Amino acid sequence: MSRIAYVNGQYLPHREAAVHFEDRGYQFADGVYEVFAVRGGRLVDHELHYDRLDYSLRELAIEAPVSRPVLLMIIEEVIRRNRVTEGIAYLQITRGVAPRDHGFPKTAVPPALIVSARNMQSKEALRRTGVAVICVPDLRWKRRDIKTISLLPNIMAKQMAVEAGAYEALQVDEDGTITEGTATNAWIVTDKGELVTRKTDRSILSGITRLTAITLARSAQLKLVERPFTVAEAKDACEAFLTSTTSDIMPIISIDGAEINGGKPGPITKRLGELYETHAVGA
Ligand code: PMP
Repeated sequence: MSRIAYVNGQYLPHREAAVHFEDRGYQFADGVYEVFAVRGGRLVDHELHYDRLDYSLRELAIEAPVSRPVLLMIIEEVIRRNRVTEGIAYLQITRGVAPRDHGFPKTAVPPALIVSARNMQSKEALRRTGVAVICVPDLRWKRRDIKTISLLPNIMAKQMAVEAGAYEALQVDEDGTITEGTATNAWIVTDKGELVTRKTDRSILSGITRLTAITLARSAQLKLVERPFTVAEAKDACEAFLTSTTSDIMPIISIDGAEINGGKPGPITKRLGELYETHAVGA
């Protein structure tokens, strides 16, 4: 089956799905994106993704190319045409095509929209064993709350994880606190049974899985604290895990080689994982 992508108003086979070389996304990373989970052929938490997309667009003064209902229609059509049941939908909006100049185009150009979707292998087995992570310096800018396609520090950090045989790299700020993973939010569980995750400000992305995990934790009466934590605290924690659209609730079993919970996913992480699974399947 040939894969189909939506590019600026057209559904095209992948080999023809191209953007202009003067697209500002290509030249300046002047754009934003979203990754939606697809479960049972349906989008998970799509309203929350749209809210974050609107926020990112507003912060960068990029116009929305289409309305929310139209965007939903396009994404669902791409999912349908690619027969995606378990996987992801990807969307990217850039400021559009204009002669290369750092300032925004003087005469308005239409923003560019692309949407793709694909099936993905389940990470269920990995969630059962848990994953290793490493810590790396956070080299990013000061607006990490915007989901921009400018991901160079994230991909460099992720590559360090890959080369170290780890699943993810936790990025560490100059004050020694963990900000987040390269594409995940970070959590620990303390010896008091408290779930701890950094509060959302400009220092991290407000992950949709993080938001849902908070809602689920609260409804299950789990103790929750939103505050920064250090690498030392994380290595000493009873449990640790990551949250993201493509990882769900992913147990961490070692940080820089230091075992967490004896190298096994912890009970609170597992409980939250089950709650999330139920939520995602029923979404
Ligand atoms: N932080 C960063 C830097 C990310 O790229 C992602 C993935 N989009 C996340 C956190 C997790 O966000 P979400 O749960 O929305 O996938």
